[in-house]
Amino acid sequence: MKTYNVCVIKGDGIGPEIVEEAVKVLDSVSHKFGFELNFDYHLMGGCAVDIFGVPLPDETLNAAKASDAVLFGAIGGAKWDNLARHLRPESGLLKLRKELGAFANLRPAIIFDELINASTLKPETVRGVDILVVRELTGGIYFGQPREKHEKSAFNTMVYSYEEIERVSKIAFEAAMKRGKKITLVDKANVLETSQLWREVVAEVAKSYPEVAVEQMYVDNAAMQLVRDPKQFDVLLTENLFGDILSDEASMICGSIGLLPSASIGGKVGIYEPIHGSAPDIAGQGIANPIATIMSAAMMLRYAFNEAEAAQCIENAVKSVLRDGYRTKDIAKFDAKEICSTSEIGSIISDYTHKF
Ligand code: NAD
Repeated sequence: MKTYNVCVIKGDGIGPEIVEEAVKVLDSVSHKFGFELNFDYHLMGGCAVDIFGVPLPDETLNAAKASDAVLFGAIGGAKWDNLARHLRPESGLLKLRKELGAFANLRPAIIFDELINASTLKPETVRGVDILVVRELTGGIYFGQPREKHEKSAFNTMVYSYEEIERVSKIAFEAAMKRGKKITLVDKANVLETSQLWREVVAEVAKSYPEVAVEQMYVDNAAMQLVRDPKQFDVLLTENLFGDILSDEASMICGSIGLLPSASIGGKVGIYEPIHGSAPDIAGQGIANPIATIMSAAMMLRYAFNEAEAAQCIENAVKSVLRDGYRTKDIAKFDAKEICSTSEIGSIISDYTHKF
């Protein structure tokens, strides 16, 4: 039997609650589709700071590197906000991404017809939205050196190399070829030199993909266009900071931040994680929506293990559960038949996987 080793990092806040549900659903499909998943649990984030004094212990990093994929929840919380930057939970995640070479973050933003009323936009504006945000993840201003904070001034550096842009662009073009064959490069080329380089490199990469239409859009316009007419986008390619912001905006178009998955890929081992944070405001209450994490698990099956049928089965189960009116609290207002806790909806999705 095929066996895949998954390094599971639950993290902080709602992380443990939502990851548990994804593991439940994965267990269910692995039995059905005849493969085995070994789950190996490790700490990262504030919980690791409390025990090991660092947000990403070597033991976790080594386990992640040795695994076939990382399934991750979320990290962070007020308790660790005042630590030095290298000790903050987010530093652990940034280091993990960098060490694993996970330079491309794929964030599908798809609206479920069943949740059309959960969007803050009008149904006719959002019906049929299917965007793939490809966000560069290990470069740009989040990592650029030098960076310094003084009492009366502070600075960060936005830096990109040709190679960094080229490799993530290739991933975006490959993805576009399997979808609507259109890429919107989002940048600020009227102001930033890094954006000008992005335009040059993307134009170069585009020569190998003549079927893909490429357009350029300034980030301020893109933020506006996303709420004006989101259906105009197919693949939205952008750098780290812009991608972080625009993908949260895209998530709200789809109804709740608790719905959107992501895959951070590029190196040997990918990280599969919801796009939201650790939601400390609702942690421990059993009301977090685990669907983003469950859909991230589906992405893991598809991208890391090539188990496309099992991934599709999870996606079908999620859609059917929403169609039948099961809702967590964040989407409870919208055509709900039954309001479920985190673990109840996880169990229902898990049961529904037997139908497909
Ligand atoms: P957040 O995404 O955690 O929460 C924003 C809002 O969305 C909150 O009201 C929260 O209750 C809600 N929400 C998020 N996920 C939800 C879910 N699955 N179900 C229902 N509601 C959900 O963002 P924040 O409040 O800005 O940050 C909280 C902490 O998370 C901070 O410490 C931040 O640094 C961290 N963070 C971590 C990651 C990550 O681990 N990848 C990403 C972003 C933020």
